[in-house]
Amino acid sequence: MDTMTKNRLKNYINGEWVEAKTTKFDEVPNPATGEILAQVPLSTLDDVDDAAKAAAAAYKLWSKTAVPRRARILFKYQQLLVDHWDELAELITVENGKSFAEAKGEVQRGIECVEFAAGAPTLMMGKQLPDIATDIESGMYRYPVGVVGGITPFNFPMMVPCWMFPLAIALGNTFVLKPSEKTPLLANRLAELFEEAGLPKGVFNIVHGGREVVNSILEHPGIPAISFVGSQPVAEYVYKTGTSHGKRVQALAGAKNHSIVMPDAQLDPAVKEIVSAAYGSAGERCMACAVVIAVGDVADTLVEKLMEAADSMKVGNGMDEGVFLGPVIRDEHKTKTANYIEIGQQEGASLLRDGREDACMQDGGYFIGPTIFDNVTTDMRIWKEEIFAPVLSIVRVATLEEAIELTNKSDFGNGACLFTESGRSVRYFRENIEVGMLGVNLGVPAPMAFFPFSGWKNSFYGDLHANGSDGVEFYTRRKMLTARWS
Ligand code: NAD
Repeated sequence: MDTMTKNRLKNYINGEWVEAKTTKFDEVPNPATGEILAQVPLSTLDDVDDAAKAAAAAYKLWSKTAVPRRARILFKYQQLLVDHWDELAELITVENGKSFAEAKGEVQRGIECVEFAAGAPTLMMGKQLPDIATDIESGMYRYPVGVVGGITPFNFPMMVPCWMFPLAIALGNTFVLKPSEKTPLLANRLAELFEEAGLPKGVFNIVHGGREVVNSILEHPGIPAISFVGSQPVAEYVYKTGTSHGKRVQALAGAKNHSIVMPDAQLDPAVKEIVSAAYGSAGERCMACAVVIAVGDVADTLVEKLMEAADSMKVGNGMDEGVFLGPVIRDEHKTKTANYIEIGQQEGASLLRDGREDACMQDGGYFIGPTIFDNVTTDMRIWKEEIFAPVLSIVRVATLEEAIELTNKSDFGNGACLFTESGRSVRYFRENIEVGMLGVNLGVPAPMAFFPFSGWKNSFYGDLHANGSDGVEFYTRRKMLTARWS
């Protein structure tokens, strides 16, 4: 890690590393050890204004740069990210806590977004019809939107920003990113590598901070489009505030994902997938499995196997060999999770495995072991609310119909999975579940960069989702030309 990441972080504005105009800083600890990695500035309206102005100035040239030339920079960026794969993954583990293997997977997901964005020449193509009437032609042309603001969460410091800025920039926009103040280090490295790939000054800017930066982006007249990913209440607030200021906004929000296990499921692979989806990244994934619905007589064996898998899981520092479950992001989050475990007990759920008791609380890290509740019901807070930690709830029902009805009661609709060998069950599941991203016999059905990331209900605010064709629509606007040549 270079020295910059150890100290006070700077903002990246107009291709320069600049001090934020603030006296307020947050500490950024390594969640596995408590060691302070850096101080992140809580930047101000002035910093956002500087970045927005730099981005607006850069937009004039960048939006007119030939699309294949823009794409070529993305190709070079992709290669640099590949070359720095391990370094980026280590930075993710150090600031976020997830295991190194998972961090490497996250880097891959980020790289895939850059690869998709490098297809900009094809993605930006319009449509024409030469004869809409005698001697009259009509054509649709695609243009960038302007300066885009991006606001991202702590749980995927690389993948989520990469859902946004590579595509927006490849399509001719310029960008102001506000990374999570909890995991701000990786964003700076992403900017350094983009600069190395040849990106002109001012096209990509970073303003570090929290709520004040978000509000400044939401209200800034020079930022017409905003991509947000984070928790449900903030997503709703960002969507409502941004749109009331006349901006286009896509806001991806929280989740409570259910996995339904049918009696005909292959149990061993199902358990492997569920455990990985529930406890990978310490449950801090918007596609994490939070609830297992055991259908019919599968329940007892399933619970037994889930317990075995949880017991054999190695908890610790994500950089250590064989560790699967790292720390949660902050001490407060550990306390909040412990409170949820307490609430679950008070609500009458059966606490089969208590992660508070795991003997892994070493080195000042924020560890909480794999936790399992059985006999959870839909009136309980531990079923309704997103805990975002390694806590798995098991609900028992008699039929697939009941399982789907129960899943549909959730306010969220991000992901849902079905474990079965029956095509008929899969069809019933697909047709009746009110969730945007479905998995069959796998635990984390996150779509790849060329498909939209399409949560439903309170998991999403807006109409065009991130990535894929939705991302292209969101970061572009169209012109229609109708012409008579007689
Ligand atoms: P968060 O909502 O606390 O923070 C997200 C961003 O919003 C950060 O940049 C933060 O600085 C800013 N922010 C926080 N509070 C704010 C406020 N009051 N006003 C203005 N801005 C504010 O989310 P988090 O804890 O960083 O991330 C975890 C959440 O993100 C979970 O709910 C998870 O499900 C969700 N998430 C969703 C997706 C998805 O695709 N739907 C993907 C990743 C994460």
